[in-house]
Amino acid sequence: MLKQTISITRITKSPAETQKLGADLAKLIKPPCIIALHSDLGGGKTTFVQGIAKGLGIKEKVISPTFVLEKIYAIPKKKFSFYHYDVYRLKADPMLIAEILENAENNLVVIEWADKIKKYLPKTTLWINIAEIKDNQRKFQINANI
Ligand code: ADP
Ligand code: MG
Repeated sequence: MLKQTISITRITKSPAETQKLGADLAKLIKPPCIIALHSDLGGGKTTFVQGIAKGLGIKEKVISPTFVLEKIYAIPKKKFSFYHYDVYRLKADPMLIAEILENAENNLVVIEWADKIKKYLPKTTLWINIAEIKDNQRKFQINANI
């Protein structure tokens, strides 16, 4: 049963620091897991996801899957994969949402613009809100229900 929400705030001062935060988080999480990212355009979601991928040992270059919607990466030495979604252009397509949730049962799923499908995501979703403070500064608020 979910008992409490834990909230952690971090400020990053460069894209490299954001990637480091993503890489650090990647080492803590134990899939299956959904990480939901919320920010404005240019907030740093993809930069953060690049850090997660690095932390998992993925060598491929991670870009925002805005047009392909889904990108799947194998994770070295792991049985699960990394599913990267960008649902900005998704109009609550039930088939696709069902597919995302199905993939989340056994894998790590990271969703950019996740607020667009918020009501479909489970309570266990790790929510990360990113706010732009200044040109190079971002405030990360990480919320976990445990
Ligand atoms: P999103 O996926 O949310 O649209 P991106 O990660 O693609 O955002 O873009 C973030 C932009 O902001 C990049 O151009 C990046 O270089 C810049 N940036 C500046 N400072 C930071 C920071 N602290 N963290 C992340 N990105 C930053
Ligand atoms: Mg992006």
